[in-house]
Parts: sequence; structure tokens; C-alpha cells
Amino acid sequence: MFDSVRMRLTLWYAAVLAVALIAFALLVYSAAARGFYERQDESLRSTAATVASAYLEELAEQESPAKASEVVLVELVFPNRYVAITDTEGQVIAQAGNLPGQRLIVPAASLSEARQRGIGFKDSNGLRVAISPVSQDQNKQPGFVVVAESLNVVSDSLRSLRRSFYTGVPVILILASLGGYFLARKSLAPMALMNEQTRSITAGNLSARLDVANPRDEVGGLATTINDLLGRLENAFEEQQRLIADSSHELRTPVAVVRTEAEVALEQERETGEYRTSLALIRDEAERLSRIVEDLFILARQPLVSPALARESIRLNDLVRDCGRAAQVLAARKSLQFDAPGPLPELTVKGDDELLRRMLLNLLDNAVKYTPPGGEISLNLSAQNGDAKITVSDTGVGIPSEHQARVFDRFYRVDKARSRAEGGAGLGLSIARWIVEAHGGTLSVESKVGSGSTFTVELPLRE
Ligand code: ADP
Repeated sequence: MFDSVRMRLTLWYAAVLAVALIAFALLVYSAAARGFYERQDESLRSTAATVASAYLEELAEQESPAKASEVVLVELVFPNRYVAITDTEGQVIAQAGNLPGQRLIVPAASLSEARQRGIGFKDSNGLRVAISPVSQDQNKQPGFVVVAESLNVVSDSLRSLRRSFYTGVPVILILASLGGYFLARKSLAPMALMNEQTRSITAGNLSARLDVANPRDEVGGLATTINDLLGRLENAFEEQQRLIADSSHELRTPVAVVRTEAEVALEQERETGEYRTSLALIRDEAERLSRIVEDLFILARQPLVSPALARESIRLNDLVRDCGRAAQVLAARKSLQFDAPGPLPELTVKGDDELLRRMLLNLLDNAVKYTPPGGEISLNLSAQNGDAKITVSDTGVGIPSEHQARVFDRFYRVDKARSRAEGGAGLGLSIARWIVEAHGGTLSVESKVGSGSTFTVELPLRE
């Protein structure tokens, strides 16, 4: 039960609210108690003042203090209050017995306190007692007025206040917690829905998306993020499936050729020359197969991002010179003129030597493949705007502009028959572009049908 966020939120909320409510109740209670006691003292003081002034007036008219005090206490009646008039020594001259069964003894200490401060208070026998000198004139002191009231008057009010808190605080707490629980449930409901929807998504329905109620709130933000992730996964998954479909399609033809050729050759006894022809054909197809498999092997690494590449320092001038030598051999075999690069600038990049060589050889290989005998191929390396720039140019068949963007796609070929005849499967340029991009660079083409193509590689130079 406590594993649910809803429950934990509610408990936290209730705990914080309980602390706040209790602190608030304590504050209110202590303020109320102080107020109640002050009010009782104030009321006792005013009763004492009333009695004192009446007594002073009567003293002027009556012959004895006893008579005067008696008259005063008969005239003034204070329900539930004990009122007494004493002489200067604190001896009771007269008292009103509104508090039956209570006898008050006023200690001398309280008298002197009352004399000094004008009034004195004291708790005694469950009573709050106020002692006030009859006259504020210190020299002519006729005595004291003593007024008392039960402390229960205040404690009863406090008890009823406490009772309100004892019932009120838990009721508020329970109501607020229920409210909090329903709020938490309501705001977490989209999460539960998301959970359910996410659980039902498999490789079979990667195109499904989560419902986004409000993309601006936190839950909506999470749903959008998950939807973006699903989108990326779907693309990657589709890409992989396309690769598998394309590759099996590409592999099917050479495998079928090998099989048919072998079957035909084995159908009957044949001359050695015929066997040789068949085997040569089978060898060519097997070569094509192994090239495709090798390319696929490289493509399998493609999802790996740049950090997974080797990061060695590579002297591009050496790399270009070596690849140029290999291209020279290929060009010579096809009677093409190869413009070997002159003195090369010393340029260093960071990356994977083997992959970069493969990329450049793919470009040179294409230049040779798609340039008819008698044509010309050139290779160059220069530095430009902090990049190393390698160009591979040919005077070959060129690429029609509508195909230029797509030649970098996997298995894309402008002229399928020509490419097959040259042993290509349409993977070379997609591999080359991937390698360049994994090194943080760009690969682009400029081409004109009939007059040739120039492939340009730009790689960021090492700082
Ligand atoms: P392929 O194995 O078919 O050569 P690539 O991916 O290397 O595959 O090239 C894709 C297509 O781009 C080729 O089939 C070809 O039509 C075109 N192409 C590539 N390089 C050149 C070039 N230098 N000149 C003309 N066409 C080219």
C-alpha cells in the first residue's frame, strides 16, 4: 500500500497538515488562555474599584467603617463573586457571601504588594483573588477591598475550547486527507493510463502513441518524451527491417545464380572447359556475395555513435597517398588516367584509420567503376576553414541531379544493371557517408551527366 505514490503523497500531506494544525491550535489556545485570565483580572479590578469608591463615599456619610461597609455590600451585589472589605491590617470588616463555604485569609504579603502596586492578585483555594487598597492615598488608608472569583470560570472556557480542538482538528485532518487523496488520485490517473498504454506497446505496434491530455504539464511532458522515444525507436526499427529486407533481396540473386549454375553443371557429364566456365561464374558470384556480406558487417556497426569509434591520430596525407596508390592500380587496369596528388599538406584528424581508408577507397573505386576507359580520375587533399578537404573527381558518366541526393541511401543505384555489372550492391556510398558523419564531417557530391562527378569529404581537423 505504501508503495503507491498516491498513498505516500496523502500521508505526507496529512502529516504536514497535522503538524500545522496542532501548532495553530496550541498558539490559539495559549493566546485564548492569556486573554481569559487577563479579562478575569480586569473584571476583578473593576469590581474592586466600584466597591472602593462606593465605600469611600459611604465612609464620609456613616459614622463607622463597619456600618459603611455593610451598607455598601448590601447595595452592591456581584453574583458568583466574593467581596469583602478589610481594615488596614487585613481583618475583614464586612463581606458578601456570594461564594458560600469560602473563607478568605488575606496574607500580609499580598497586602503590602497591593499597597505598593495599587492592586495585587493571588490564586488561593481555587479562587482568583484581587486585593485593592480602598484609597490610592498612601497616608489616609481606610483599608482594602478583596474581590474573588472561582478559577473555574476561566478553566471551564478553556476546557470547552480544548474540546472544540479535540474534535475539530481530527475532523479537519480527515476531511483534508480525503480531499488530498482524491486530488492525488486525480492527478496521477494519467500516469496509470500511460503505464497501461506503454505496457501494451510491443515491436508489433511501435506506431502506437500515448495519449497526451495537456502537453504543458509534467505528466503531459513525460508522455510527449515517451512518444518521441517511441518515434525514434520506430524509425530505427523500420530502418533495421528495411536493411534486412533489402539485404536478403540483394543476397538472393547471387545465391540463386550459384545454385542454378551448379545444378546445370551437375545435370550431366561435361567438358573440363564447361566446368571451368561454370566455376568461374560461381567464383564471381561468391566474390560479390562476400563483398555484400562484408559491407553488411560494417553497416551493422552503423548505429554505434562516434564515441564507439577508435580515436587515433591519423595523418591524412599518408592515408590519401596510400589510397592513391591503390587507385592508381585500379585505374591502370581500366586504362584510365590517374592524377596522383602532388606534395600533400600535413593534416591530422582524430578517428578510425581503417574506416577512413575504406571510405576513401569506396569513392575511388566508384570513380574507376563509373568512368569509361580513356577517362581521368583525380584525388586531392587540402585544408579549408579548419577542415581537411579531400576530393575525388572523375570524368565519368555522372549522376543525374534527381538521383544525387539518393545515391547515399542503402542499396540505391542509378543504373542497376551497370552497377551489378561492376559488382556493386549500392552500399558503398551509404557506408562512406556514415563513416564521414561518424567522424563529424560531411560528404557531398557535385555531378553532371556525361562530364563527371566530384565527391568532397570534409573532416574537422584536430585542434
Ligand atoms: P554501388 O555498389 O552500386 O557502386 P554505391 O553506393 O557506391 O553503390 O553508389 C550508389 C550509386 O551511385 C551507384 O550505383 C551509381 O549509380 C552512383 N555513383 C556512385 N559513384 C559514382 C560516380 N563516381 N559516378 C557516377 N555514378 C556514381
